[in-house]
Amino acid sequence: MPEPVFYDTHAHLDYPEFAADLDEVLARARAAGIVRIICIGTDLDSSARAIRLAERYPGVFAVAGWHPCEALRAPEDLRPALREMARHPKVVALGETGLDFHRLPGAREGGTPEDDRRYKERQADLFRQHLEVAAETGLNCVIHQRDALEETLALLAPFADRVRGVFHCFANDPDAMRRVLALGSRVSFTGILTFKNGGNVRETLAATAPGKFMLETDCPFLAPMPHRGKRCEPAHVREIARVAAQVKGCSLEELSEWTCAAAHEFFPKLAG
Ligand SMILES: [Zn+2]
Ligand SMILES: [Zn+2]
Repeated sequence: MPEPVFYDTHAHLDYPEFAADLDEVLARARAAGIVRIICIGTDLDSSARAIRLAERYPGVFAVAGWHPCEALRAPEDLRPALREMARHPKVVALGETGLDFHRLPGAREGGTPEDDRRYKERQADLFRQHLEVAAETGLNCVIHQRDALEETLALLAPFADRVRGVFHCFANDPDAMRRVLALGSRVSFTGILTFKNGGNVRETLAATAPGKFMLETDCPFLAPMPHRGKRCEPAHVREIARVAAQVKGCSLEELSEWTCAAAHEFFPKLAG
């Protein structure tokens, strides 16, 4: 019987960390049974690179958008560029977008509360632009959320009948997970699941119904055990899946079925 296959639904293959050996990285992913990789853009250049990788490699797909932590250098109106990229056959969603209030400019030397206000407002504005274009084009959004759950849910809610989000690198509690799912959205888990101090994330996965969650690396970040601290790569979904199956008390075959089906349902343009 063939080994069960998995998808890496959130990878940054366009980052310089992979420039020297991407072919080997992708060969290791294939050998590990990671048969689809979704490459996530973090600004327009990064999104264009993600699309080029998707054009070059059959198992690679792209997501186009602008990361909230880069909000201050974004163009005023991203929508024309997002509309254009959304048309590409291998662009399966928009993002990563959302809100990240973890590190605010007001906390830096010389920073003011007014800096925080402007930064948060700019993030919210860009998030709305992604949601608007997603609604127009029938795509969903890959959502990055950190220390901003209430605000993120509040911005998503008015779009929830047309756009869904996958809350990637999900690290909130089961109650937050239920609120995300209640909007029709999904959650996705990284290598944090394998960390010794990842007990709270394992608890959330344990409470998440099959079909409602996906797996991802967020590489080059967040390498799972036993690779923690090194460069992460899509092949490491294997280690994440092993722990996820233990947490769910299911076989790797079942986990493969659930998570791949969840990805196809959420990313309608994900072929195969
Ligand atoms: Zn992110
Ligand atoms: Zn990311």
